[in-house]
Amino acid sequence: MNPLKAQALVLRVIEFSETSSVVTLFTREFGKVRGLAKGARRPKSPFDAALDLLCTCRIVFLRKSSEGLDLLTEAKLERRFRGRGVQLSALYAGYYVAELLSDLTDDYDPHPELFDFADRTLLDLSNTGSVAVLILRFEVATLRLLGHFPSLSQCVECGRQVARTNSVFFSQLSGGVLCPDCRPGKPNVVSVPARVIDALEQLGTDAVWDDPLPELPRAVIGPLRGLVGQTVCHLLGRKPRMHAYSGMFLD
Ligand SMILES: [Zn+2]
Repeated sequence: MNPLKAQALVLRVIEFSETSSVVTLFTREFGKVRGLAKGARRPKSPFDAALDLLCTCRIVFLRKSSEGLDLLTEAKLERRFRGRGVQLSALYAGYYVAELLSDLTDDYDPHPELFDFADRTLLDLSNTGSVAVLILRFEVATLRLLGHFPSLSQCVECGRQVARTNSVFFSQLSGGVLCPDCRPGKPNVVSVPARVIDALEQLGTDAVWDDPLPELPRAVIGPLRGLVGQTVCHLLGRKPRMHAYSGMFLD
């Protein structure tokens, strides 16, 4: 077994024994990896206190050839997630980023762009910018990079261009907008204000990641939070654990 090196984000840490932990990491090079870190809970360990939730670190690990956990041998801390002190929404938003990466990606399915986006989002969550827009932008990037971004211009049933007048029919089940002809008889269709669809489209463009954070009015953030949250629920097949706190992601 050759040791593998990766840049990693710590998504979950579970105590495994008196001295060891099982760690779930999202790596830039290999995607999600789960590894046993022997001795990680000892005061002096080769893991440099880098295996805390939401830390970014450089790791060395051995990949198990069969089922079972990989073996982490080293971790070097690059950055600790700080959040924003008393503003809990940034902290919960960080946990939510970890939850989405953990539950929406597969082991050994790398998405380097998503890694970079997550890394950048955690950094921004510790600094400035609207938590609400940062988390929306991350969710939208996740949907896009994992191939689940909804169709916003063409009707998902017939492919025709959907006019964006006052409001637009949207179906989670079908994965996008519906034209008025295809709307009848479809379950769970919601009517979404056109400017909310506009904002979702704006957040979904490739360019947005390097751009300054777009400014969204609160009247758009509320319904957009609902729409994107429902899309994530639909994809997970359940409510995210951090969903209970998503009311905090409105500012
Ligand atoms: Zn149609």
